[in-house]
Amino acid sequence: MSRTTSYTVDPVRLDGVLDEPLFKAVASEAALQGIPAFAIGGYVRDRLIGRPCKDIDFVVEGDGMAFAQSVAMRLNAGHVHVFKNFGTAMFMHGDIQVEFVGARKESYSRNSRKPEVEAGTIQDDQERRDFTINALAISLNAGSLGALVDPFGGILDLDRGILRTPLDPDITFSDDPLRMLRAVRFATQLGFVIDPITFDAIKRNAKRLEIISAERIHTELNKILSTPKPSVGFILLRDTGLLAEFFPEFLELAGAEEKFGIGHKDNFYHTLQVLDNVCAKSDDLWLRWGAVLHDIAKPKTKRFDPGHGWTFHGHEDKGARMVPTIFRRLKLPLDEQMRFVQKLVALHLRPISLTKEEVTDSAVRRLLFDAGDDIDALMILCRADITSKNDKKKERYLRNYDLLMEKLKEVEAKDHVRNFQPPITGEDIMRVFDVPPSKFIGDIKTVIKDAILDGVIHNDRTEAWALMLETGRKLGKEPVGVKDE
Ligand code: ATP
Ligand code: MG
Repeated sequence: MSRTTSYTVDPVRLDGVLDEPLFKAVASEAALQGIPAFAIGGYVRDRLIGRPCKDIDFVVEGDGMAFAQSVAMRLNAGHVHVFKNFGTAMFMHGDIQVEFVGARKESYSRNSRKPEVEAGTIQDDQERRDFTINALAISLNAGSLGALVDPFGGILDLDRGILRTPLDPDITFSDDPLRMLRAVRFATQLGFVIDPITFDAIKRNAKRLEIISAERIHTELNKILSTPKPSVGFILLRDTGLLAEFFPEFLELAGAEEKFGIGHKDNFYHTLQVLDNVCAKSDDLWLRWGAVLHDIAKPKTKRFDPGHGWTFHGHEDKGARMVPTIFRRLKLPLDEQMRFVQKLVALHLRPISLTKEEVTDSAVRRLLFDAGDDIDALMILCRADITSKNDKKKERYLRNYDLLMEKLKEVEAKDHVRNFQPPITGEDIMRVFDVPPSKFIGDIKTVIKDAILDGVIHNDRTEAWALMLETGRKLGKEPVGVKDE
């Protein structure tokens, strides 16, 4: 496996630390109180590889909360938020979030990722961290000011792009199984490789994920999805056995069956390709989820029809119905984000059907009406869905989509159905026919909407008004109120 991103570790990057007011203040306070203090963890890692980082953690061998108060006073920082339960304190230094905690030693019981915590040394604190690259610390103490404290060779791992646990990985992962997902997430974000010994331990402990909450799992998954190439993470999730623990539907996409010499594509890899393609075009996390789920019902709808080969009829509707189940299980939001994902899954085959024949305006209007403001996202997904290896075919499909997009623009400019507002309201109908809220009203509205989408009338109040009167009469009611506008 090769690294997909390369960072250069540059110890010189630490040189400036002692010129910065925050670090100066911590060092002065450490000297004054005689308490060892260190910058530690993600910040040190990110600083060494030149990755932006907006939160800095400090560990002191003593009371982190009291220490934070003193440093905040020195810096004239604003309010210090103290979290007694965690023994931490936080304040803002400009736009940087600064956190202090006392060094601690942890011991875990089998059924929980909440450890027993006691005061410890910096070494104890480093040992409880997940990866060697996350255990690096910078000393802010006289005699070793600015030196890197690296008991596990984290700097080498950072340089070589390797994720490795500081202690026996079976213990690290069994103690807190979330770390296994973090391994995959860092591998994807940083383009690092998971060390084989650590990797094998993840495989052995994958089942332990059962004690991790769905919220924590989806947070890591969303971080993987927010990288430029999430396929890397999904393949690691599959190979470690983690994916099976929380997203079996995705695993079911894998495999290409063959019958009578006719195969179908492997929808696991196809989906990952679509996902990466979408990521090249959009940062929208929920559009990315749309890519993840667009073909999710293919395994459930797969049939072999001797006349046609493999079919996946209705996978878009069944897939849309699977979205809430999956979102609920992963405790992802069930509001408009989910509905957006559902809509993308439900509509992802519609645009292609509009490139096949001579498209009618009315079919285009229907798509605009159904997709509404999400039409652009849908088109990104559809374009990303072209994963043919035949460049000529691919070009032709993309050209067809270009034409469709032109058409969408033209029709929208003419008919304004993208954000369709019915030209006649339910109140109009109630007033004119003097009827209470009832099915009659819905029926008239549907007739008007269909007539507009089918191009029978324009999206215009006068034309719609006439159709309302006519339809009402057909349904057996005479207008009694205002007869005309
Ligand atoms: P990011 O901020 O990009 O999510 P990070 O490594 O900074 O990555 P944080 O959650 O900010 O992650 O945690 C800060 C540090 O705390 C980590 O670098 C690591 O040393 C330690 N840490 C966080 N979570 C765990 C964990 N589950 N097990 C062990 N150590 C952890
Ligand atoms: Mg962090």
